Amino acid sequence: MSKKEIVILGAGYAGIVSAIKLQKKLSASEANITLVNKNDYHYFTTELHQPAAGTFPEEKTRITISELLNQDKINLIQDEVVEIKTSEQTVILKKTQLKYDYLIVGLGSESETFGIPGLKEYAFGKWTYKGAIKLRNHIEKQFETYNGESEQVSIVVGGAGFTGIEFVSEIAERIPALCKQYNVPRDKVRIVCVEAAPTVLPGFDEKLVKYGVSKLEKKGVEFIIGTPIKECFENGVLLADEQRINARTVVWAAGVRGSSVIEKSGFENVRGRVGVNEYLQAPGLENVFIAGDCSFIMNKATERPYPPTAQIAMQMGDLLAENITATLRGKEKEIKEFKPSIKGTVASLGRKDAIGLVGNMKVYGFLAASVKKAIDLRYLFIIGGIKLALKKGRF
Ligand code: FAD
Ligand code: NAD
Repeated sequence: MSKKEIVILGAGYAGIVSAIKLQKKLSASEANITLVNKNDYHYFTTELHQPAAGTFPEEKTRITISELLNQDKINLIQDEVVEIKTSEQTVILKKTQLKYDYLIVGLGSESETFGIPGLKEYAFGKWTYKGAIKLRNHIEKQFETYNGESEQVSIVVGGAGFTGIEFVSEIAERIPALCKQYNVPRDKVRIVCVEAAPTVLPGFDEKLVKYGVSKLEKKGVEFIIGTPIKECFENGVLLADEQRINARTVVWAAGVRGSSVIEKSGFENVRGRVGVNEYLQAPGLENVFIAGDCSFIMNKATERPYPPTAQIAMQMGDLLAENITATLRGKEKEIKEFKPSIKGTVASLGRKDAIGLVGNMKVYGFLAASVKKAIDLRYLFIIGGIKLALKKGRF
């Protein structure tokens, strides 16, 4: 019997975890494994708010994929996925095509702009490695070119979800150093976070939110809540209440939708995310597994989909490696259903502060910041052992 082809699309949290586990479990004689990714590196999305604000070196938030994988066992292809043709079991890449027997789709998400005019053109909303560097450079340029008393350096952040809050916290921490470096008076700098919902971090614990908002306001962050951004321009935003905020930097952190490849490939989807079954299979396709941000599964307790997180993407990648191995070896009884284990949620408020729920326990301040660092270090350890944790960790 010919060897089966396993193709993994995307080397994010879901893709890299499944690839690392498959290379451990399978021998080269059992299957050909191919991992396709746009770049030759894997970046740690969960840390990108830091290089985006310039509080942590960008090279610490990525790792060359070949350093994580054994290329005798995994074929790496640096290319862009254009479309998946499930009827032909083929993936179309920019430069070539690939046939698969088993497919793992882990192409992540894209910024959701809800059709709001001007956002695609003028806002910074790419939460990728390169997107983070671009944003940081742009902000530094605003300080570098500040030229006098009348001008103000304003940064508007759209969305006070976890991404918005983590970014606002980092940039608030960086501002004093930027002011000093470029001789800009602190009172000439505005950071405004605009949120459509009636509260910051909607759905999160009220006490923790109150703590976070109060800490950020003390650092000079202004919040405008219950007011969506309705248009974006080169030099600012217009809010639903017709208020205009002038700002040369508009950061978009108002949510995500699944990869556009999902829609292009004709999968049944909701905003680019495919509702998968308990084995993470796409509807009607036994050999196509969709993991991470371009999939969703329902939380039966809340009757809502689980939010797209790295935590879930990793668990999905892990399960898929187990289940594909069991299938290849004819051990169907070992195939398991996906049961997410949510350990908690921690949002950083800069280097030494955070808020979070660990299980049912509320954590604040330095303790919460230490938990957040431990979560990031744990991930580095899982994919690259102690060496990677020491090399890339933030201590
Ligand atoms: P990703 O990690 O986004 O990976 C997708 C991969 O596919 C990337 O390597 C990308 O380059 C590649 N790719 C995309 N399109 C193509 C294509 N067409 N062709 C080839 N390659 C392609 N979640 C948490 O659980 N905890 C946190 O603390 C946390 N913090 C976050 C902080 C920030 C600032 C942000 C933006 C998100 C955070 N998240 C967090 C959410 C988390 O990062 C995502 O849920 C997670 O990255 C999803 O993993 P994934 O594998 O689905 O996709
Ligand atoms: P989100 O959907 O969680 O939050 C987006 C926020 O933007 C919402 O509060 C929404 O009300 C607001 N919004 C929407 N339209 C708006 C508009 N027109 N004007 C102003 N505000 C608007 O998205 P996110 O924060 O990007 O997070 C994406 C995913 O990543 C989530 O699942 C989140 O849990 C996860 N994440 C987790 C962490 C963490 O665990 N520390 C950090 C970042 C992201």
